[in-house]
Amino acid sequence: MSTNSPTLAVVVPLFNEGAQVRFFLDRLMHVLRTMDVQWQIICVDDGSEDNTLTQLIAAHSLESRIKIIELSRNFGKEYALTAGMDHCHTDAVVLMDGDLQHPPEMLPAMVAEWRSGYDVVYMTRRSRQEARSSRRWGRKLFYRLFRWLSDVRLPPEAGDFRLLDRDVVAAIRRMPERTRFMKGIFAWIGFRQAALFYRESGRENDQSKWKFRALLALAMDGLFAFSQRPLQWIGLTGGGLMTVAILYGFVRAFGALFLHAVISHGELMLLVVAFLGGVQLLSLGIVGAYIGRIFNEVKGRPLYLIRQRYGMDQSSTVKLP
Ligand code: UDP
Ligand code: MG
Repeated sequence: MSTNSPTLAVVVPLFNEGAQVRFFLDRLMHVLRTMDVQWQIICVDDGSEDNTLTQLIAAHSLESRIKIIELSRNFGKEYALTAGMDHCHTDAVVLMDGDLQHPPEMLPAMVAEWRSGYDVVYMTRRSRQEARSSRRWGRKLFYRLFRWLSDVRLPPEAGDFRLLDRDVVAAIRRMPERTRFMKGIFAWIGFRQAALFYRESGRENDQSKWKFRALLALAMDGLFAFSQRPLQWIGLTGGGLMTVAILYGFVRAFGALFLHAVISHGELMLLVVAFLGGVQLLSLGIVGAYIGRIFNEVKGRPLYLIRQRYGMDQSSTVKLP
């Protein structure tokens, strides 16, 4: 490895990964040592409640190129990734999970694509073993909805396992939004993107850290942060309903005036009122979803808080605008 070989940072978000962290780091370093890059590994401990941090500190004391960012609590993977990217000053950054589902052996191929001129190399799953089929259906439904609602195209089966050029990292850092849906952000930024395939290893002793509620919240964030269409529907539905109501009023009034038809239909009214009430509540819910997010942006809270850094320049924190 020469001194002018490119610099590469591998950002790994970790939440309760326990003892297998050491195994993962060993396997990752084994691959990195064969590559012609100056590497470092940035582990972001996302408020783990087990011994993940102890394991990381032990690994750091043996290899100073392993850096640690300890967040003050569990902020979620998207924020852990953001924290990691904010601390990278390398020519390229690789994002990967720390549970060995993303094979480190793919790194040389990713770097080769990047060196041939691509800014983003995203990894596409060949096979995915989902613990529960409800998850699979949920995922399918989400992608279908997203395609329908948003103009941003998400590549299917692409996760957060990817390589980003430093310019791309700089571009992502310029996005100040608090609702961070990384898959959407990655698709939105553009640049020259290449896809590579990989086989996801099994989940035998591995449970997803995502609880159903967290997944649902992520899906909602994705939909509302990258689509304005529900807002437009409110206007359309309201306008449509009003037109129908006016026409219906005219018809009934005409009937009553000229044809002596009986107007009062309590039951019918009840139905109409219930229907309108339902539509109004639904619309309010959609508006509320946006307002909630506006509220989040306006509050201007930091995206994450760091408790401690290990082996890292304390001044390297990049402030968002
Ligand atoms: N993770 C995290 N914070 C969380 C949940 C997960 O940093 O709140 C990390 C986790 O340690 C792993 C990666 O994000 O390295 C992917 O998590 P997981 O394997 O649970 O997700 P899945 O494989 O279902 O996408
Ligand atoms: Mg996983």
